[in-house]
Amino acid sequence: MGKRTILHVDMDSFFSSVEAREHPELRGLPVVVGADPKEGRGRGVVSTCSYEAREHGIRSGMPISRAYKKYPDAIFLPVNMALYRKVSENIMEILRKYADKFQQISVDEAFLDISKKVKRYRDVRELVQEIKGEIWDREKLTCSVGVGPSKFIAKIASDFDKPDGLTVVSEGVDAFLAPLSVRRIPGVGEKTEKALKEMGIKTIDQLAECDEQKLIAQFGKLGHRLHLLAKGIDESEVIETRETKSLGREITFVEDTDDPDVLGNAIGGLANEVQRVLVDKGYRFRTLTLKIRFEDFETHTRSKTIDPPSTDLELIEKTAKDLLQEFTGVQKKVRLVGIKVSNLERLDEKQKLMEAYMTD
Ligand SMILES: [Mg+2]
Repeated sequence: MGKRTILHVDMDSFFSSVEAREHPELRGLPVVVGADPKEGRGRGVVSTCSYEAREHGIRSGMPISRAYKKYPDAIFLPVNMALYRKVSENIMEILRKYADKFQQISVDEAFLDISKKVKRYRDVRELVQEIKGEIWDREKLTCSVGVGPSKFIAKIASDFDKPDGLTVVSEGVDAFLAPLSVRRIPGVGEKTEKALKEMGIKTIDQLAECDEQKLIAQFGKLGHRLHLLAKGIDESEVIETRETKSLGREITFVEDTDDPDVLGNAIGGLANEVQRVLVDKGYRFRTLTLKIRFEDFETHTRSKTIDPPSTDLELIEKTAKDLLQEFTGVQKKVRLVGIKVSNLERLDEKQKLMEAYMTD
């Protein structure tokens, strides 16, 4: 494998930065986005918090009740996921343009393989400044960027100089890693850190020097992986992610029809197919669009957005039939009907987002 140039881009305290952008009066204040604290009796956790809130000891993932006790005067805001998702989409669209290969890993983080693109720039810093500049111009948000020869190094580097940081590790990977705590390794949590500590391993160079068999005996496969990472070896690729934006099915009738039963049955069949694909691919939908083409090829669409997102078959069928009702007055036969669902949300998104909450 040739020498690669990988970026890890991580938005700075994403949710609270978006809130501060929307509410300029909150800028510079300790803002906590998460569950309702209910004066210290609230359940749930801190999703993210501003750097000012961190100065009061508040952290992502902390129970909201504890955050409230640490600093009751902080500004507590609910999670406005629809807004963050929209902003996230805009940012990912910007980032994707700069990458040879692009992988979004959470609502506010992505890897970019820029090995080819970077050749057009004087150096990698110039390219990163252009990315940061475009994100700032269009979204008024800052990010921190790590650059390295692997995803692992890039990910560690992006965390080095927050907020609005840029850390480039090109030469001297070993020297960069050596003094760092093992906790910096993605996947090393409290438990693994403690187990390593019991083996006398605190820093990455100590991990690299440890006998691999000992690590495998203790951690199994993870031990092997940890040992490789500690030695700076990570050949994992930036895996192109193309989000499914919509999915749909349509049917052209053998003979044009205005028979309500035929149309109703067709909608029922399409709803069934769409729902099955939706579930197979692991999505819920928010928007359903009905498409209808008449015998003279005049084509119309009607959409409806539902909340909360769903995979419910009856809802798909009923929504499509309701939309079809809007054409009952048309004195033409129908050539084609179709159902499309869009504005898709991954079924596991809540889970994914929970993880994202913890890593800003
Ligand atoms: Mg972040």
